[in-house]
Amino acid sequence: MNRRRFLGACTCAFLPVSSEGNAVPLGCVIANDAPVFDDPTLDLNEEVKERHEIFLLCAASITFVAWGIHKSNPADRAAYAEAYPGRSFREYQGHNIGSLLVNGRNEIVCYERNLASMLNDSTQHAEARAVQHGIKALNADRYREGNQTGGYSEMLQGYTVYTTLESCTQCSGIMDLANITRVVYLQDDCGQQKIGNVLFNLFKYQWPAGAPEPVRGHFVTEFSELASAFAQYAIDSNTRSITSFLSSLKACRLFERMHERFNAYLVKSFPNKWVYEQAREYAHTHL
Ligand SMILES: [Zn+2]
Repeated sequence: MNRRRFLGACTCAFLPVSSEGNAVPLGCVIANDAPVFDDPTLDLNEEVKERHEIFLLCAASITFVAWGIHKSNPADRAAYAEAYPGRSFREYQGHNIGSLLVNGRNEIVCYERNLASMLNDSTQHAEARAVQHGIKALNADRYREGNQTGGYSEMLQGYTVYTTLESCTQCSGIMDLANITRVVYLQDDCGQQKIGNVLFNLFKYQWPAGAPEPVRGHFVTEFSELASAFAQYAIDSNTRSITSFLSSLKACRLFERMHERFNAYLVKSFPNKWVYEQAREYAHTHL
C-alpha cells in the first residue's frame, strides 16, 4: 500500500458510524486514492505572485537582520566574524525562521520569529507566535471598542501567514484551528511530510472553512537556491536537519541576498506598490 492509499484508508477509519453500525460516507472525506500529499492546483496571476514575493522577501529580510548564531560555538563565531567583520549578531534564540501575519486587506499585522531556545519552549515557533499575536491584538480591539462580533473561530479568516520555512505539524494545526486562510512559504521542509498539504487536501471540501491553503513560493528565485544549498549542506555535514542548515553561513548569505533584493525591489504591478511601501516601512521600523 503506498502512502497515499494508506492515509486514505486511515481517514476512512474515522468516518462517523450510523446507528446501524455502518460507516456514513461524507462528501467532505477524501477518497482512498486521493493525492493527499500533492500541492493544491493554484492559478496565481503575476500580480498575486509578486505580492507573495514581496511579503516573503520582507519576512526573509527581517529574519536576516535578526539572524542568531551560536556564540558559544568557536567555529561558528569565527566563521561569522570573518564573513561579516564588524557586525554583531544576536545570540541564537531559536531557529532562524520568521513569519508575517497579513490580514485580508494585505496589511501586515505582525512579524514573529522562532524563540524556542530563548524561552526553552517548543511551542514558540514563528507561525504559532504570529497567530497568537494576531489573536491578542484583535481581542484587545474587540474589548476596547466593545465590539462583540467575531469569535475566535472566525477572526483570522482571510488572513495569510508568510513564513520562511514550510510549517511543522504543530503550527499547521494552530493555523488550521485559527482558520487562517493561506500559508505561503519560502522553503520546503522535507521533515514535515507535507503536513500542510495533507490537512488542506483532507479538509478542502469541509464547510465553513478547511485548512489553510498551502502555497510554495517556488516563483521566488531563492526558493530553488535554498533547496540546492540545503541538499549540499546535507551531503557535506551528513545531516538532514534543515534547522541546522538555517544556522549556517550559506543560509545566512542567501537571506542576506533576499534582504538586499527586498530593499531594492522594483514593483512591476501597480496595485502592489503600496504593498511594497508598507512592507518596507514595516521592516525598517520593526527592528
Ligand atoms: Zn512550527
